[in-house]
Amino acid sequence: MSPNELLVPFALPDIGAEEEAQVLDTLRSGWLTTGPKTARFEQAFAEFLGEAGLHVLAVNSATAGLHLALDALGIGPGDEVITTTHTFTATAEVIRYMGAQPVLVDIDRETLCIDPARVAERITPRTRAIIAVHFGGRSADMESLLALARPHGIHVVEDAAHALPATHGGRLVGTLDSSATVFSFYANKTMTTGEGGMLVLRDAAHARRARAMRLHGIDRDAFARFRSSVPAWRYDVVAPGFKYNLTDIAAAIGLAQLPKLHRMQQRRAAIAQHYREALAGLALVLPPLPAPGDVHAWHLFPIGVLGMARDAFVQAMFAEGIGMSVHYVPLHQMTYWRQFCALQAADFPVSQSVYERTASLPIYSRMDDAAVQRVVAAVRRVLAAPA
Ligand SMILES: *Cc1c(COP(=O)(O)O)cnc(C)c1O
Repeated sequence: MSPNELLVPFALPDIGAEEEAQVLDTLRSGWLTTGPKTARFEQAFAEFLGEAGLHVLAVNSATAGLHLALDALGIGPGDEVITTTHTFTATAEVIRYMGAQPVLVDIDRETLCIDPARVAERITPRTRAIIAVHFGGRSADMESLLALARPHGIHVVEDAAHALPATHGGRLVGTLDSSATVFSFYANKTMTTGEGGMLVLRDAAHARRARAMRLHGIDRDAFARFRSSVPAWRYDVVAPGFKYNLTDIAAAIGLAQLPKLHRMQQRRAAIAQHYREALAGLALVLPPLPAPGDVHAWHLFPIGVLGMARDAFVQAMFAEGIGMSVHYVPLHQMTYWRQFCALQAADFPVSQSVYERTASLPIYSRMDDAAVQRVVAAVRRVLAAPA
C-alpha cells in the first residue's frame, strides 16, 4: 500500500478556514515577507507564553532558531555542547555550525529524554551549553539539568520542537529558566506554519544579537539610538548574519493556529488516553507519562514492541493501511555522527534498546475516533498474527 492510499496517514496538519482566510488576507495585502503579520504572530506567541520580559523571535525553522541561540550564547570552536543521541540531527548539527564539539549522551529510560546523570559525567571545563530535547512532548528533567549547569555557568537550551504546549512544574515550556527555548512549526509538528519556528530568549543582549543575525547581521537599533526617525534604507551590518526570517505568509498560518493550540493538544491527549486504555495488556511498552501535574504535548506516541521484531511490526502496520514512523534512529547510528564523534552503540545502551524496538503510532488532532479505533484494531491484529 503506497503512502497516499493509507487509511490513516502518520501525520496531517490541522488547517481550516481560518488559516485560508489569514493567508488570503496576506496575499492580497501586498506584503509577503517579514512584516506586520510576523510582528503580530510574535506578539500573540508572547501573550500565549504569558510571561513578561521574554524575547520572542519568529524564524523560518527550529533549526535556524537553535543556530541563532548558540550564536547568541557565543558558542564557538573549542567549546563543548552536551546533548542527547536520541534526537533529530538538527539538535546536534547546529553545534557543528558553530565549530564546537557535540558531546552526545544517553537518555533516561523513564522519560526518554536526556539523562542528567550521563550529562554530569561529561561536563568538562570546555562545556558551554546543554541542549535538552522534550522527547515526544514530555518535558525533560529541567531541575536536574539546570542544577548541573548553573554552578559552572553552563547555558541550558531547550529543543522544544515537540513541546508546544507542554508544561513543567506548572509553567509552560518556553517560560522555564533556560537561556533559550526553540519551537518548530514544521508541517508535522503540534502547530504548523508549513516551515517555521520560534526562538524564545531570556537575555536582552542575546535577543539583540539573534535579531540582527536572523537577517544578514543587519542592526537598525544602532541608528534608532541616535535618531527618532530612521529611514528604511538606513541600516548597519554588524556581522555576516543569516537569512532566517519568517515570511508573513507563514506567520499568517501561525496566527490562525495559535488560538487552536489548546484544543489541538486536548484532542491529542484524548487520543493518547484512548491508546493507553485500548493497548493495555498487549506485549507493548507504552510511552512515558508526564511528571505529575505536567501537561504532555503528545507530539508522538512511541510504543515499544515486545512480541515481534519492530521492522516486521511497522511493515505489517503499513500493510494494514496505518502510517508509522520511528523516533529516532539515534545519532550514534548515523555515519557522520558515528565517525565525527567516534561513537559506538554500546555507549548508549538505553537509546539503542529503545530504538531497536520502538515505533510511533499516528497521533494528531485531525484523527477522528474511527481512525483511532482503526489503529488500535490494526495493532491488535498485527500482534496476534502468527510470526
Ligand atoms: C522537527 C525537529 C527539529 C527541527 O525543526 P525544523 O523546524 O524542521 O527545523 C529539531 N529538533 C527536533 C527534536 C525536531 O523534532
